[in-house]
Amino acid sequence: MIRRLFKRLYRCRTCGDLHWGYAPPKVCPTCKVKDDYVPVNLSESATLLGLFLTPPSPIKVGGDTHGIETTVGSSNTALISRKERQEMFRELIEEFARSKGYHLNPDSAHLEMLIESILDIEERQGVKLCPCRLGTGELMKDLALLCPCHFESQQIFKDEKRCWCGMFFAG
Ligand code: SF4
Ligand SMILES: [Zn+2]
Repeated sequence: MIRRLFKRLYRCRTCGDLHWGYAPPKVCPTCKVKDDYVPVNLSESATLLGLFLTPPSPIKVGGDTHGIETTVGSSNTALISRKERQEMFRELIEEFARSKGYHLNPDSAHLEMLIESILDIEERQGVKLCPCRLGTGELMKDLALLCPCHFESQQIFKDEKRCWCGMFFAG
């Protein structure tokens, strides 16, 4: 496990738990899954915190700048441009793929379409839900659809060594 010189936020791919630290926990304290954390950005973490905390924190989505504005309580506000979010998400999925020995879909048009769809969803709903699967509409029930999801448990990964949407491939 790589330990960083700075702390960051991590999300459990299975249950959505958040962790702030130099490295993700080896075992998720909530769902007990091993080695299943991925880095998660501040705005998405804010949405998840709003979901987990009672009462939920207000989430405000920006419109004309194509940015996303999130507020946790009253003190933490961030405005990130679409371009920055594209770069951050691309870095995240590249790092995730590297750490797991996967590779991203070499079809750059398909990959681009997935990334843009996921960022559109994040602008509307505050989190990067899978663009290819229908959720229930209730985030607490749809945590398993956050991207990158735990696609290793999907039949299609067992059969075709790829995630459902074709973003990640094994081997
Ligand atoms: S199936 Fe692929 S694109 Fe969809 S959420 Fe999972 S990892 Fe992301
Ligand atoms: Zn978990």
